[in-house]
Amino acid sequence: TISNGYAGQIASRVRALDVSLIVKISEMAAARKRAGEDIISLGTGEPDFDTPDFVKHAAQAAIDSGETKYTANTGTPALKAAIVARYRRQGIAVEPNQIIASTGAKQVLFNAMMATLEPGDEVIVPTPYWTSYVDIIAICGGVPVEVRTRGEDGFVMNPEAMEAAVTSRTRWLLLNSPSNPSGGAYNREQLRALLPVFERHPHLGLTSDEIYEHLVYDDFSFISVLKALPELAERTLVVNGVSKSHAMTGWRLGFGVGPVSLIAAMSTVQGQATSAPSSISQAAAVAALDGPTEILESRRQNFWRRRDIVVAGLNAISGLDCPTPRGAFYVFPDCTALLGRRTPEGTVLETDTDLCDYYLSEAGVAVVPGTAFGAPGHFRISYAYAQTALEAALDRIAAATAALT
Ligand code: PLP
Repeated sequence: TISNGYAGQIASRVRALDVSLIVKISEMAAARKRAGEDIISLGTGEPDFDTPDFVKHAAQAAIDSGETKYTANTGTPALKAAIVARYRRQGIAVEPNQIIASTGAKQVLFNAMMATLEPGDEVIVPTPYWTSYVDIIAICGGVPVEVRTRGEDGFVMNPEAMEAAVTSRTRWLLLNSPSNPSGGAYNREQLRALLPVFERHPHLGLTSDEIYEHLVYDDFSFISVLKALPELAERTLVVNGVSKSHAMTGWRLGFGVGPVSLIAAMSTVQGQATSAPSSISQAAAVAALDGPTEILESRRQNFWRRRDIVVAGLNAISGLDCPTPRGAFYVFPDCTALLGRRTPEGTVLETDTDLCDYYLSEAGVAVVPGTAFGAPGHFRISYAYAQTALEAALDRIAAATAALT
């Protein structure tokens, strides 16, 4: 066929990438659904709310008033002003020329790695990590260096573990707080504890993906690295956007805040890849960033309730151990106690992937193995789903787990 015929011409940097386990699980779940099975899929990481109406109206107004042309490569002045104001409200001073708007937070990360990595440069990525990090780094010629974090430490990396991973080739530490998939998040002290490592290694930069900053729970308060580590401002890139905060995943609008020279280099990359993000999405993002916050607060409360239901439900299941995440909309239970057990059919569950396959086939629940995030022995549940679906999924997981011997 035509598609097979082309395979030999695909570049090795792309051929080397694994097909995402998340995609595989979603495809398997979708195939079972099509076959008429009753599947509850908890695999996807996007808010289950709609984009707020005031954001949609701003986009419609942009279309009607002709804001439908190319914009400045790094974003419109109006969007940059909204981003500047947003950071000023947190007591962080940034200038418009320190900002780049891109087609999602993902493109911000891609631009940054493309602009800074020489072949073989290393990027420290604490595990569990968002799967795209390691693939973006690899496509850009870099080498991800994994540093393990543990549930009992809230999935927060300590300075000793970070120091042990630094080499002369390390270009970045790539932090994600709150984290996908663990929900772990760094407080001020935990961020400050990393400062001496950066001071010992002046060649090391900090990229901080803060896309889940609005979704934190209990008495945890989010702090940006720009506020917690001002000493590192000249080598810090913050990645953020409206995808998760405003349920705007399909609008593709993210932004980066960093040193002027880095932003300029990222703009060069973006200028040849996509140019600026959609003018309409930029106008929508201005409305999102300047708009009322009540709706975000009620959604946060809603996620928080669901987090509590899911954590309690999982911890009631013998063999699962689920830390209570500080943020985002994921939980990441440890399932190592279940490995080695047998299914009713007699299959031994050797790995987290085996367990997730079992949950899909026997319980009709799709969750993602921790292996996909560099953390075997776990699985990820996204709780951005209806409470009734979550409760049904927990019942099914409990029954399927109890059937193991
Ligand atoms: N960063 C993290 C940690 C994510 O989980 C995601 C999406 O799942 C993104 C970035 C991507 O954001 P965007 O949709 O704005 O590209």
